[in-house]
Amino acid sequence: MDTNYYIDLENRFGATNYKPLDVVLTKGEGIWVWDVNGKKYMDCLSAYSAVNQGHCHPKILKAMIEQAEKLTLTSRAFRNDQLGLLYEELCRLTNSHMVLPMNSGAEAVETAIKAVRKWGYKIKGVPEDKAEVIVCEDNFHGRTITIVGFSTESAYRDGFGPFTPGFKVVPFGDADAFESAVGPNTVAFLVEPIQGEAGVIIPPAGYLKDVRKICDDNNIVLITDEIQTGLGRTGKLLAEEHDGIEADVTLIGKALSGGFYPISAILSNEDVLGVFMPGEHGSTFGGNPLASAVALMALKVLIDEEMIENSAVLGEYFKEGLKDMDSPHVKEVRGLGLFIGIELYPKAGGARRFTEALMADGILAKETHDNVIRFAPPLIIKKDEVDWALERIGGVLAGG
Ligand SMILES: *Cc1c(COP(=O)(O)O)cnc(C)c1O
Repeated sequence: MDTNYYIDLENRFGATNYKPLDVVLTKGEGIWVWDVNGKKYMDCLSAYSAVNQGHCHPKILKAMIEQAEKLTLTSRAFRNDQLGLLYEELCRLTNSHMVLPMNSGAEAVETAIKAVRKWGYKIKGVPEDKAEVIVCEDNFHGRTITIVGFSTESAYRDGFGPFTPGFKVVPFGDADAFESAVGPNTVAFLVEPIQGEAGVIIPPAGYLKDVRKICDDNNIVLITDEIQTGLGRTGKLLAEEHDGIEADVTLIGKALSGGFYPISAILSNEDVLGVFMPGEHGSTFGGNPLASAVALMALKVLIDEEMIENSAVLGEYFKEGLKDMDSPHVKEVRGLGLFIGIELYPKAGGARRFTEALMADGILAKETHDNVIRFAPPLIIKKDEVDWALERIGGVLAGG
């Protein structure tokens, strides 16, 4: 069976909500993936940072198989012997006091919005149905109706209304704009420490610190969406650490399973997550023993194998290497840890032709919006592998 056979199957029977690069992958190991013809590629997307630990990490695989042979799903009607262990480890690592497990990132965001609304009514004393959550322009928090309703990207929202009320949008990276938008019924500020989907947009230094203070001064819950930036991607366990702050609610997902299984978590404290009483929120698969065992091991290898440190060191090396490249197309190279974006000049004609050329050269990277190429390889990448990538990226971006 060749590439076109699989592409044709997808095109004939699949919904058309993606425009993937036409590479059909069949195997992955570490930072490498192979297509159905046996051609090898370096994965510089890591499934949008879900595969930070590398493809098919053997220890996570082993944990998954062992747990799958014992017990996979109990529902939360009963307890299981893995979930508590995951709670304890997440709290220990992130200094949280209460955890709520879900499956996808969007569900974690939805859950956080439910929690802060209820907190607003029960604790802050906001009048019924008046709670307001402030979000940022160019945000990406997932794809549910409520979430796309407060997106500013027309492709995400057009044709999907009517939307959930109760959200206000302010520019990203502008703490004064946030402060001006605060009203008596503001219950929370939801923000990505670095905007990934918007094109690896890094806010001014100290932004989160300023935002933290404004939230404290106004009794507002600070929610950081670390679904993409968390778990080592930026060279720290959580990106908020770069600003030396702690959010009240932190959302993680993606790499929480090392790419094996959908699992997300809301990390917070009794004050916020304590608002949920039995029956008020739930998920059939959330907190299942298979997901918990996988996540426990995914966290363990992230720490034990020093992937976070590697992300900091090789991220800097990768970024400097990209900056040293001689290319007429590159407007800016920016990033933190192994979370790097190259912004091209509009006259370069869009990033897509470069990601296609990189694919031909054995590097899989994805354009985000029209003019940014994101480089986010698994955090286990080595220096000589970065050199290998830099040589090819340099070749592709040098061309006319
Ligand atoms: C991917 C992502 C989400 C949504 O996660 P899903 O698992 O796709 O629902 C939310 N927020 C951020 C910052 C993300 O990168």
